[in-house]
Amino acid sequence: MYQVNPNGFYGTFGGAYIPEMLYANVEELRQSYLSIINSESFKTEFDYLLEHYVGRPTPLFFAARLSEIFKAQIYLKREDLCHTGAHKINNTIGQALLAKRLGKTRIIAETGAGQHGVATATVCALMNLECVVFMGEKDMERQAPNVARMKMLGATVVPALSGSRTLKDATNEAIRNWMNDPVHTHYIIGSVVGPHPYPDMVARFQSVISHEIKEQLTRQIGRSNPDYVVACVGGGSNAAGAFYHFLDNPNVQIVGTEAAGMGVDTNFTAASLAKGSVGIIHGSKTMLMQDKYGQIVEPHSISAGLDYPGIGPLHAHLFETGRGKFYAVTDAQALEMALLLSRTEGIIPALESAHAFGALPQMNLQPTDVVVVNLSGRGDKDMQTYMNSFEW
Ligand SMILES: *Cc1c(COP(=O)(O)O)cnc(C)c1O
Repeated sequence: MYQVNPNGFYGTFGGAYIPEMLYANVEELRQSYLSIINSESFKTEFDYLLEHYVGRPTPLFFAARLSEIFKAQIYLKREDLCHTGAHKINNTIGQALLAKRLGKTRIIAETGAGQHGVATATVCALMNLECVVFMGEKDMERQAPNVARMKMLGATVVPALSGSRTLKDATNEAIRNWMNDPVHTHYIIGSVVGPHPYPDMVARFQSVISHEIKEQLTRQIGRSNPDYVVACVGGGSNAAGAFYHFLDNPNVQIVGTEAAGMGVDTNFTAASLAKGSVGIIHGSKTMLMQDKYGQIVEPHSISAGLDYPGIGPLHAHLFETGRGKFYAVTDAQALEMALLLSRTEGIIPALESAHAFGALPQMNLQPTDVVVVNLSGRGDKDMQTYMNSFEW
């Protein structure tokens, strides 16, 4: 009911609103992705790399001190312990394996903060694929360490010079580049966004997260379903992975957090559900932040990974149907949660992940509630922001 339908829609959201020039590329993927990723040889290779390269399964950790503070049973799904520091590698491995089976030799990707670019450059090095990453010129300045990582891994980083010189411009450049080389190139999109089949394909690669949560909860507390599963939502891939195997179980409440930036009543926000309206962005019908002419409004969040003006169509559907509850979490609340998690559990989270914890004080939890929070990434990349934000 909450999965994609055969036409590529989640309720009224999703689809593939693409220019004719891109039809061949997307259609090839649509026709082949399910048979490839369900094949035994794919599964064997994917599972091997998840276990021995990424380091899966990632732990599910009972956060005793946090549980005391929020008066509930809080468990952390430790995606921050994945190789390269976040969940994104689950998807880039899956798509790179798929690209190889389609006979592609060249990978392109867009990146904002550089995290998806690094995860893509990593798997391209591993699998001997040529890698070109498009990145807004402004983001290249802001995220210089990740640019250096990509280059060290052998990728070419191409600055996007148009528009606001940020993520959406990099995405446009990547799409344009893909059109010009449909035969040799695969475009690895980094979240559950873009035209069908990307949102479904990426959700499937990330669904290993909720698969593991079910097994780990069963072992630890004797039941496979939590009362709540909580994740931050940028495009929505870590959330889609954490929600995936719980979507059709109404006993599990689904909670997402979006980045409110300076607040949803300001113009400096990335809360596409709270502030957005229905439109089309990057090939998908979804909720996005736009002006009265349908032009995209530049988002703001302290966290570069949540700084996207749209949201994956699955989440727009969960929001519209009421299946999911979405809270807006400000920059200031996220910083507060990052400090709290560091000092209660000894885990410095990514700024994106810190937003997930911002749901806890808003949730009206009961002491027996079992809550799984998806800790999507580690905070190393955010230390400069933390240093600028706190007086120690
Ligand atoms: C990129 C990123 C996100 C946001 O992307 P989603 O597709 O919404 O998951 C969240 N957390 C971390 C650590 C990230 O690097």
